[in-house]
Amino acid sequence: MSTPKEPSFRESVDLMFNRAVALMDLPPGLEEKIRVCNATYTVRFGVRLRGQIQTFTGYRSVHSEHKEPVKGGIRYAMGVNQDEVEALAALMTYKCALVEAPFGGSKGGLRIDPRQYEDHELERITRRFAYELAKRDLIHPSQNVPAPDMGTGEREMAWIADQYARMNTTDINAVACVTGKPLNAGGISGRVEATGRGVQYALREFFRDARDMEKAGLTGSLDGKRVIVQGLGNVGYHAAKFLSQEDGSKITGIVEWDGALVNEAGLDVDAVRAWIGKHGGVTGFPDGTYVKEGAVVLEEDCDILIPAALEAVINLGNAERIKAPLIIEAANGPVTAGADAILREKGTVIIPDMYANAGGVTVSYFEWVKNLSHIRFGRMQRRQEEARHQLVVDELQRISDAMGNTYSITESFKQKYLRGADELELVRSGLDDTMRIAYQSMRDVWHERGDVDDLRTAAYLVAIDKVAASYRAKGL
Ligand code: GLU
Repeated sequence: MSTPKEPSFRESVDLMFNRAVALMDLPPGLEEKIRVCNATYTVRFGVRLRGQIQTFTGYRSVHSEHKEPVKGGIRYAMGVNQDEVEALAALMTYKCALVEAPFGGSKGGLRIDPRQYEDHELERITRRFAYELAKRDLIHPSQNVPAPDMGTGEREMAWIADQYARMNTTDINAVACVTGKPLNAGGISGRVEATGRGVQYALREFFRDARDMEKAGLTGSLDGKRVIVQGLGNVGYHAAKFLSQEDGSKITGIVEWDGALVNEAGLDVDAVRAWIGKHGGVTGFPDGTYVKEGAVVLEEDCDILIPAALEAVINLGNAERIKAPLIIEAANGPVTAGADAILREKGTVIIPDMYANAGGVTVSYFEWVKNLSHIRFGRMQRRQEEARHQLVVDELQRISDAMGNTYSITESFKQKYLRGADELELVRSGLDDTMRIAYQSMRDVWHERGDVDDLRTAAYLVAIDKVAASYRAKGL
């Protein structure tokens, strides 16, 4: 039997959007205004490399400008195309609305295999792409603020920031034109780990509510849960690392491009990451069983499945065989609309991408605010906070002494209480708060509305409601 045809990624996002708006009471014109992508700019530019001119195709799509700047990453991959950037830009709109990051949605992409180029070549290509976008205000601190995505990272963001600054020599806020920069080039502590950290915070919030666990047929906490991760890139690595090292989960499977590793006792995430760094893939890793047909490991028995790499890895072809009762979409669009329907039918709980991977853009928001305020978080308060805490500790000590030392303050309490929060702690605290509040808003809709039986629809309802409110406030 041949597999029925999947809709494209953008069609998939539209289908999911339509499912949600069918439950809302929006004027049809507004519904259409929110759904459509406002504009997509395609650029073809040439760069002289290795003695000849090579032409590259890039995109920057702006889905919604109900808030500005618009926000979203730039990805470098051979599969980049207009349909994909538009789908991803739409997801950015809903994602930002859901976690209350005050941005519209955008996304960019360059059709390139970055592994085929030397660092200095990538720098020239990136600077040229940035130039093309910046001269049309598609990179701009108050208009459009890119960030890392698949195939890009801190290094590319530093090049983009520098390129923008060269073109806008008197812009005092130039460094806020892009987020995800290295710390020494205007970045913020905790941005690299942010998306994976957000996945951890999302799961912690899930396991705080017995009703949610019951829907997935799970009990207890993250401790001892068996987790399979697809993709050990920045997002998958950090999520797996934090879950296994801080919450006691066991990473029983890791799926990578060249195959998968399984180990019921739990894989050492840092060791696997180091192996991939050295050997290019998971093949040959000694402390786990290697499975050449990696995709079948997605179908293995586990408690939590974390697709953290590509789109459409769970599709009409394998959805029926997925055993995990809980899927958290660390990647954008890993479950197609068709697979989503099958999994819903089976009772699988899916924590949707627009929420699950919003940790990245949340910390991007903090970085952007830091850049605009030109001061690191905590710089003014930290020592004053420590001084005030010292007063409390001294006073407790005085009382204790006066009472003949019947009570004493433990050294470990003192250590923890006296330390003022640094930037990283503040970023994590802001991220945790954001992930909890956004989850709770989805949860309320999920449990309280009789017509919503999944978190994705709940997420769309919350997000679309917020976007609609912005448009209404503008008088549209
Ligand atoms: N590319 C990331 C995403 O898909 C981050 C976007 C950002 O930080 O603006 O959410």
